[in-house]
Amino acid sequence: SAGKNRMRSFTPGLQDVVQLRHHVQSKLRRAMADGEIQLNYQPKVDSITRLPVGSEALVRWQTSTGEFIPPCNFIPVAEQTGLILPLGEIVFEQAVLQACQWNGQGNSPLIAINISAHQLRHPRFVEQVLATLERTNSQADWFELEITEYAVMEDVSYAVSVINQLKQLGFRVAIDDFGTGYSSLSYLKSFPIDTLKIDLSFVRDVIWDSQSRAIVRSIAALGKGLGLNVVAEGVECEEQADILTEAGCDQLQGYYFGKPMNAAAYEQWLGTYRP
Ligand code: C2E
Ligand code: CA
Ligand code: CA
Ligand code: CA
Repeated sequence: SAGKNRMRSFTPGLQDVVQLRHHVQSKLRRAMADGEIQLNYQPKVDSITRLPVGSEALVRWQTSTGEFIPPCNFIPVAEQTGLILPLGEIVFEQAVLQACQWNGQGNSPLIAINISAHQLRHPRFVEQVLATLERTNSQADWFELEITEYAVMEDVSYAVSVINQLKQLGFRVAIDDFGTGYSSLSYLKSFPIDTLKIDLSFVRDVIWDSQSRAIVRSIAALGKGLGLNVVAEGVECEEQADILTEAGCDQLQGYYFGKPMNAAAYEQWLGTYRP
């Protein structure tokens, strides 16, 4: 109420936001305990040969009624409430177990795992991932860790030291959503990273928007010049794939090649996919 007989409504009001966050938080906590969190895998292909080179693990929350809640509806809340730490552990553990299974079957697929800013700054993060590798008898070089540009820019010197430790363990490291953060390009010099991942917002418009095309070409050239692997995500059609390949991207990922799928569907995709 704005006093007297006037009313103002806010949609959504601050209180609604707080309540919603609270609601999602308790639901998510229960979902983690009840095993409602799973991973999907989305293929990445070599831009030239179009052969599969690995996948990205993407978290999925399937409620007991079968409904899927998309990550954009719970990852931000998990970030704000700290639940991203236990959630990140579940994700990491599941990806590692899946990699063990696939390696046991003779595939040696590189799996990319998303790591949030919160996880990266957690003082025991490196220790925890090392413990998981040792417990499961798995190898760091089966994985690429995708860290957003935003997470890295928060505290560059701390990020450099964590990334150095992860690299020493044998992980590959990618900068995700490249081009969307407040980047100072100079940080690229000090980061021992392997991969730049071009954000899908640039890829989406690449066919008809010459500015997006210029940005994509520049990022690809920058990555090349620094000796990095360049990946474009969000590729939805042949024309985009061709423009990105021509721009110098090494790998492509997107619905055009394969959507995120559960492990069984991903295996089936691998068995039937023809470039
Ligand atoms: P991201 O890491 O940038 O992942 C790419 C997103 O683009 C994924 O959305 C993927 O499903 C979607 N995508 C892939 N190909 C296409 C395409 O051709 N067209 C379009 N329009 N979209 C495509 P998703 O799975 O909904 O995940 C959204 C975001 O949630 C991710 O963005 C990432 O930031 C976060 N996320 C997902 N899984 C995890 C996780 O395990 N841990 C953390 N910390 N964050 C995660
Ligand atoms: Ca990612
Ligand atoms: Ca991304
Ligand atoms: Ca993104």
